[in-house]
Amino acid sequence: MIVGGGFGGLTTALELARHPDHPPLLMVEPAERFVFSPLLYEVLSGELPAWTVAPTYNSLLPGRGIGWLQDRVTAIDPATRTLSTAAGQRLEWQRLVLACGADDHDHGIPGVRDHALFFRTLDDVLRLRRRVEALRQSQRPLQRLAVVGAGPTGVELACKLADLLMGRAVVELLEAGPEALTGCRAFNRDRALEALARRDVRLRCGTRVRQVTADGVDLDWLADGQTMRESLPLDALVWTAGSRPRPLGLAVGNDARGRLSCTATLQVEGHPGVFALGDGAWVPHDPELPSSAQVAMQQAKLLATNLRRSLAGDPLEPFQWNDLGEMLSLGVGEATLTGMGLTLAGPAAQTLRRLTYLTRLPGTLPLLAAADWLVDRGATTARP
Ligand SMILES: Cc1cc2nc3c(=O)[nH]c(=O)nc-3n(C[C@H](O)[C@H](O)[C@H](O)COP(=O)(O)OP(=O)(O)OC[C@H]3O[C@@H](n4cnc5c(N)ncnc54)[C@H](O)[C@@H]3O)c2cc1C
Repeated sequence: MIVGGGFGGLTTALELARHPDHPPLLMVEPAERFVFSPLLYEVLSGELPAWTVAPTYNSLLPGRGIGWLQDRVTAIDPATRTLSTAAGQRLEWQRLVLACGADDHDHGIPGVRDHALFFRTLDDVLRLRRRVEALRQSQRPLQRLAVVGAGPTGVELACKLADLLMGRAVVELLEAGPEALTGCRAFNRDRALEALARRDVRLRCGTRVRQVTADGVDLDWLADGQTMRESLPLDALVWTAGSRPRPLGLAVGNDARGRLSCTATLQVEGHPGVFALGDGAWVPHDPELPSSAQVAMQQAKLLATNLRRSLAGDPLEPFQWNDLGEMLSLGVGEATLTGMGLTLAGPAAQTLRRLTYLTRLPGTLPLLAAADWLVDRGATTARP
């Protein structure tokens, strides 16, 4: 039984289903579509169609030996090896995989839930696209949009928004910490800061959001040891400042961020028949693991092996993270990447980044999606 059909859950199911003698597989996932989040920026800008980045499960799963229940898990009882769903089903499992990922976290800051836009689901992207279009059409002077959080998502989004707005609005990038992109490779960080500066994105570090209102944001920032207060009028605010694992009510150890504590073999501590991976799992033997699709997919491959071993009574293998590198999209047609022996920035990096991601789409989509993009790209470049 696999709970969640995102990067971790879907990859685990597909890996297991490759073996002809695989056990019966059921994936419980409430959404209609798998979302390949690294390419959402391209859907926002219209560089890629939504179908390539957010295929329906109905197009991905048939004929693979994977059952899909479109429902949400609400409770898990390891003692009776059952789980309950929002639609009132009670289901038994022999081995359970928890892959529910994470959701946006407002850190309890007033107004975020009511007034901010987010950037996680396809609906979020379409909502933001409509707002960008409205700003582009508006004749009002001094329009302003803020992105909160200068991690990879915030920086990538700010570059893309600046390109799409084409000067129709000022783009502010607000970061509470002392600098943008902490934890990213120096080469990528430097290219990203240059890309922000080229687009006149106003990066303001050490700036904390106190409250979001219907028409702006209240900020605190330090100057000469004194906290300064400022109210910034805004036409839109996009929140990318944090995520939190989706809770499942399982009474096990969590880390400070609420992730399930797991052994190196990805078993949930104290529950050898329950496994977890991705953004909702915390592996204390490897505390520096980033919350990324790359980690979730690598964990899924190991998990498929360990689930088979667990059913056969064989010893399980520990997870070992193989860091394949880091890629950031920096506006329309531009990216930076380091990894696999390469450091590259500009349009060539964007082409490599997009092809790398398109060929990592699940199921049979990679070839279709990559072919569609290449044909489209050929047509576009051939146009006078
Ligand atoms: C905009 C954006 C860009 C990103 N870019 C990159 C990138 O470039 N590179 C990279 O490596 N990572 C990137 N990430 C991070 C990456 O998307 C996550 O780390 C990855 O999705 C984690 O995989 P997961 O399986 O843990 O969760 P997810 O992929 O989020 O999947 C969780 C699934 O569980 C389902 N679910 C939730 N609750 C329940 C429930 N109660 N019952 C059943 N199902 C449930 C959800 O509907 C969802 O489908 C990005 C994230 C975002 C938001």
